[in-house]
Amino acid sequence: MAAALTFLATCDLVGLVRGRAVTNPLDASSNVGWVPADLALSSFGGIWEENPFGSFGDLRLSPVAGANYVLPSGAREMTLVLSQQVLPDGTIWHCDPRAFAMSALADLKSEFDLELVASFEHEFLLEGLTYNGSPFGLDALRAAEPFGSELVELLRQNGMDPENWLAEYGKAQFEITLGATDALTAADRAIVLREFVRDLARKNGLRASFTPIADPASVGNGVHVHLSLSRNGSPITYDPSMPGNLSEIASKAFNGILKHAASLLAFTAPSQISFLRLQPHRWSSGGAFIAVQDREALLRICPLNTVSHTPVEKTFNVEFRAADATSNPWIVIGILARALISGLRDDCTIEKIGASESPLPRTLGEAIISLRKNPEVMSWFPKDLLETHLGIRTVEESALENLSDVEKCERYLHVY
Ligand code: GLU
Ligand code: MG
Repeated sequence: MAAALTFLATCDLVGLVRGRAVTNPLDASSNVGWVPADLALSSFGGIWEENPFGSFGDLRLSPVAGANYVLPSGAREMTLVLSQQVLPDGTIWHCDPRAFAMSALADLKSEFDLELVASFEHEFLLEGLTYNGSPFGLDALRAAEPFGSELVELLRQNGMDPENWLAEYGKAQFEITLGATDALTAADRAIVLREFVRDLARKNGLRASFTPIADPASVGNGVHVHLSLSRNGSPITYDPSMPGNLSEIASKAFNGILKHAASLLAFTAPSQISFLRLQPHRWSSGGAFIAVQDREALLRICPLNTVSHTPVEKTFNVEFRAADATSNPWIVIGILARALISGLRDDCTIEKIGASESPLPRTLGEAIISLRKNPEVMSWFPKDLLETHLGIRTVEESALENLSDVEKCERYLHVY
């Protein structure tokens, strides 16, 4: 029997999935009402009151063709369809986060004839296990059964190409990786993956959390985004004659991410606790540099896999390590694509590959100051979208104002 409900879903500026359910069957013209001010909701439910939309206006959540996924667990099966926010006449709303990614990717294509390929790697915690096991241990993986096998099956059934499932270093910390695909689909899958993990954990009597860090003294949960460029479907990131094996075009493009690193973090790590994770010696991202196989780098040039039969140029990629699950994957892909375009326009290859002393912002406040001094990055956003993103941060900052870092972490742990 088909699911009774279809949830039309968007992902907001704090990385949470929100939407409304319609009754099946869904057809090409199905859509549901939505409110512009919903974009100003914070992680804890409060809204940024000064948002530019106020009580006015109406939107519709309009399903993205082919973006149907099945949530099988919990009390009843439910279909989840990723949706875009459109005006009542069907035109895309200027603040729709998915449209932000689409327009950046379209510009990368039209201006440089390049496609961005991406895959997301997610770390998360499973609360409620009776046994934790050892880091990377078989015992830890077995203790999380049947969750792990069910997750991999669910991802496979939904065409999401699961690659690795592992027990991570932290206590009750796990990681799931998906195969590389076009960057928009990769972002769609990242959004759905988090909901699958949460849903399946609930079904197994567990609670999953993607919080950036559960406790200041613990290990962080990263969202690492693997990136490569292709032209007409052929990979063009790899060139063995160049430093770090990075082709000239890739070097120019990734230079844009390095140049704008401080401002990008205001979007990729936007919670009040994101920067407790982004500190040196945490293997998250210790500085604004690119390096070969270095897990302290903002951009890690991943190893050449010559053991596999797949040609190296197909798997060669660069990993952006400074995102977490309080960010919106569409915004992350959109802003990284914009930074790549910026680097390509500058036309300069990376000066140094290897660890360097260029620090990243140490707080979200510092990242926002960098952003406000960076008219180029600000210009990538529709004004309302940018101001709403920043307004939400002020709501969260005041909501947590008098709390210690430990208490702040607890607040996010309950939401993510
Ligand atoms: N947990 C680390 C982070 O916060 C990443 C560890 C790793 O997988 O390299 O990003
Ligand atoms: Mg990991």
